[in-house]
Amino acid sequence: MKIYVSCDMEGATGVVRWEQVSADKADYAFGCAMQRHDLLAVVEAAFEFGATEILVNDSHARMINLDVRQLPKGVTVVSGAGKPLSMVEAVEGADRAFFVAYHAMAGTARAVLDHTMSGDAFEVTLDGIAVGETGFNAAVAGHFGVPVGLVTGDEALCREARALLGDELVVCSVKEGLGRQAARVLTPEVTAQKLRTAVREALQGGKTPRPFRAGSPCQVGLTVLNSAQGDAVDNLPGTVRHSGRTFSFRAGDVVEGYRWFRAALALAGTVGR
Ligand SMILES: [Zn+2]
Repeated sequence: MKIYVSCDMEGATGVVRWEQVSADKADYAFGCAMQRHDLLAVVEAAFEFGATEILVNDSHARMINLDVRQLPKGVTVVSGAGKPLSMVEAVEGADRAFFVAYHAMAGTARAVLDHTMSGDAFEVTLDGIAVGETGFNAAVAGHFGVPVGLVTGDEALCREARALLGDELVVCSVKEGLGRQAARVLTPEVTAQKLRTAVREALQGGKTPRPFRAGSPCQVGLTVLNSAQGDAVDNLPGTVRHSGRTFSFRAGDVVEGYRWFRAALALAGTVGR
């Protein structure tokens, strides 16, 4: 069984603040260590419970957070940013996708470091349903017929993922958000055990998650933070502007919609918040 792991950082054990996930800050070393911790727990369990091949996509920020020298053999890493499918690059061909150290969508209460792809997205919808990175990435994986079998992060993320992807999804919470940058956190020894149990359930628990599919065509909605960002997004061909900061785009399929969304956010990011 071939497992694909999209590995973010905000949802890792112990991580609660932006400084811990920002490469220009001293606390970043902690974020990297905990991202690796949760990933290793998942990867080792996946091999133990039936995975024959594991492809890990480093999915946070510059996407060079994981040190390949510290990962077990048998794992292949997709490293670096600028990938056409970003957080789900190279998902095609996998039997299951696991989203590790993920976080809740922008605007979620009591969710550690909630956001959607960048701090410039106020709200994102896919076919009229509010989605965060979990939902949008799951839809891209679903486009290639790959179901998401496991999502790990904080309590709010686990609720979001379950509500969207259904009961066949296994979720694993490693912390409970008390605010955007505060949480009740479990120790690594405890979360390693929880993650191992979750992987076993995902691979040997009789779960049959189905690919999460958007429509073809599909409708992507994006609200950015302010109207100046809106002016920048408005330059994208095919974009419909509904207000100063709310847009929609009708995409031929979710992959096209994902690429529009990322292009729109890149434009929004050129303007101040
Ligand atoms: Zn991230």
